[in-house]
Amino acid sequence: MSTAESVGNQFGYLCPKCKQGDDLSVVVQVWAKLFPDGTDADGDHEFDGPSSAKCACGWNGKVSQLLLADDFED
Ligand SMILES: [Zn+2]
Repeated sequence: MSTAESVGNQFGYLCPKCKQGDDLSVVVQVWAKLFPDGTDADGDHEFDGPSSAKCACGWNGKVSQLLLADDFED
């Protein structure tokens, strides 16, 4: 099992409160093209340290506060 699988996310992030990584959410910015009838997100999205993050345990904070799994490899 890879670390990404054991941690629960591709980035090796762990919640600083409950030390789990399988129920984290982050606020992402998404580029969306404007069309006459609405918008179409093109799939590219990004987040970084100052982005808001939260965990199912109730923790709320910033991405920069998340812990990194020690043995995470690319
Ligand atoms: Zn948590």
